[in-house]
Amino acid sequence: MSHSSAAHNTFSQVPSYWSQTAVDYTAPEALTESLKADVTIIGAGFTGLRAAYELSKRNISVVVLESNEPGWGASGRTGGQVNPLAHAAPSKIIEQLGEVYGPRMLESYVNSGNELFNLIADNQLDCDAVQNGWLRGAHCQSAIKQLQEMHSGWSEYGLDISFVEGKELHQLSGSTHYDVATQVASGGCIQPLSFCRELARVSAQQGAQIFAHSPVQSVKPEGSDWHVKTANGQVTSQWVLFCTNGYTDNTLQGLKQTIVPLISVQAVTRPLSADEYRSILPSGHTLSDTRRVIYYARKDNRDRLLFGSLGMSEACNGADKSRLHQGLKKVFPQLKPEDLSLYWGGKLGFTADVLPHLHEPAPGILAGLGYNGRGVAMASVMGRILAQRVSGTKAEDLAIATTRLSPFPFHALHKVGTYGAIKCYEMRDALDVKFF
Ligand SMILES: Cc1cc2nc3c(=O)[nH]c(=O)nc-3n(C[C@H](O)[C@H](O)[C@H](O)COP(=O)(O)OP(=O)(O)OC[C@H]3O[C@@H](n4cnc5c(N)ncnc54)[C@H](O)[C@@H]3O)c2cc1C
Repeated sequence: MSHSSAAHNTFSQVPSYWSQTAVDYTAPEALTESLKADVTIIGAGFTGLRAAYELSKRNISVVVLESNEPGWGASGRTGGQVNPLAHAAPSKIIEQLGEVYGPRMLESYVNSGNELFNLIADNQLDCDAVQNGWLRGAHCQSAIKQLQEMHSGWSEYGLDISFVEGKELHQLSGSTHYDVATQVASGGCIQPLSFCRELARVSAQQGAQIFAHSPVQSVKPEGSDWHVKTANGQVTSQWVLFCTNGYTDNTLQGLKQTIVPLISVQAVTRPLSADEYRSILPSGHTLSDTRRVIYYARKDNRDRLLFGSLGMSEACNGADKSRLHQGLKKVFPQLKPEDLSLYWGGKLGFTADVLPHLHEPAPGILAGLGYNGRGVAMASVMGRILAQRVSGTKAEDLAIATTRLSPFPFHALHKVGTYGAIKCYEMRDALDVKFF
C-alpha cells in the first residue's frame, strides 16, 4: 500500500514576516528511536497539530512527525485570514454532496471561524488573534451577482454575512477599489506561525510527542498496526494520519494525485506611518476579493500591511512580484510597490470539487486535505474530525464524508495547466473589470 519516497532535505522556517515575528519556540529534535503509540501524525501544520491537540487532550498517545519544523508548510506562511466560507453557494454544495453530507459540510464552514477563535481563547494561544470580520470585495459589476448568491444562500444556513457598500466600504477597507463587498463577522486573522507553535506547545504539554526534521519515508503494515519509518527512527501505531496537504509526497500511494498544489504568494510592507496604518482596514477587517487570481490583504497588529495573490514560484520571483505590485497599486494606490519589503510563498491543496477531502483508504489510515485556500479555519476543523474518527466516531457520523482516493483529472499536467490557468484567469479578471 505504500513505498519509500525519495531522500528528503529538511529545513527550518522559510524567511517570511511570520517567521520574523512569531512567538519564540525551540523546535523539537528529530526522531532517533523506536516508539509505540496509538496514533502517528505526518505533518505539523494546522491539520496535524489540531489532530494532535484533540487526541492528546483525550490521553490518546500521539507521535507527530514533521519533515521540517512545526508550521514550516503553508500553515506558517499563510495570509492567516480566517475565512469561514466555501467557494460555492450552498445549493451547489448540496447538489455535490447530497442531503446528508451537504448540510454537514455547510455547518462545518459556518462554525469554523468561531471554532478556531474559541480554541485560541480556551487555550490562551498567543497568536495575535483578531476576530473583527472579513470583507470580500466585488472586482467587477458581474461579481456583485455572485456575492448576492453567496449572501442569500449562506445566510439561510446561519452564516453572519451582510453587505457593505459605497462610502462605508471605502472607509472600512481604506480603499476605493471596491464599491460592494460582503462582510462575514466571524472572520478575522491570526499570526499563523505563532498559532502553530502555540498549538504544538499545548499538545506537547498534554503528552503529544512531536519530532521535527523527521520526514516519513514509508508506512507499511505490521500485523494489525502500521510501521512508520523515518531516516533514524520508527513508530508503530494503530492509526496513521496524513496531514500533508500541498506538500503531500508519494508515501501514501495515490494521495498526491488527489490535489493540485497551487502556489500563493505574499509580501509585507515597510513599517507604515501611524496615519497610513490607521487609514487602511481601520477596524481590523481582513480583505480579499472575487478575482479568479485573488488579491488578499490584512494588517498585522503592529504597523504593517500584508498583501497577497496566487503565484508560480514559492520564492515569489519575477512575474509573481509584479502581480503583487500591480495589485497593490490597484487596491491601495496610496502605497507604492517599493513599499513591499519581503516576499514569500507556499503551496496549498486544490481539489477538483473545490471542497476538502477526507480519506480512509485502509483500516487505520486517514488523510485530510484540500482546503482550496481557505485552510486557516477548515484545516483545523479537519484535524478535529480526524481525531473524532480515531476516538471512535463511525465514518458515517463524521461531518465530512470519507471518499476514495480519486486522481485530479490530468494530474500529470498540473504544472503546465496551472501556469496557463493563472495567465488566462488574470486576463479574464482584467476583461471583467473593463466590460462586466
Ligand atoms: C501564501 C499562502 C497564503 C494563504 N493564505 C490563506 C489565508 O489567508 N486563509 C486561509 O484560510 N488559507 C490560506 N492559505 C491556505 C492554508 O494556509 C492551508 O490550507 C493550510 O495551512 C493547510 O494546512 P495543513 O496543515 O493541512 O498543511 P501544511 O501547513 O502545508 O502542512 C503540511 C506539512 O506536512 C509536512 N510533510 C509533508 N510530507 C511529509 C512527510 N513525508 N513526512 C513528514 N512531514 C511531511 C510538510 O513539511 C508540512 O509542514 C494560504 C496558503 C499559502 C501558501
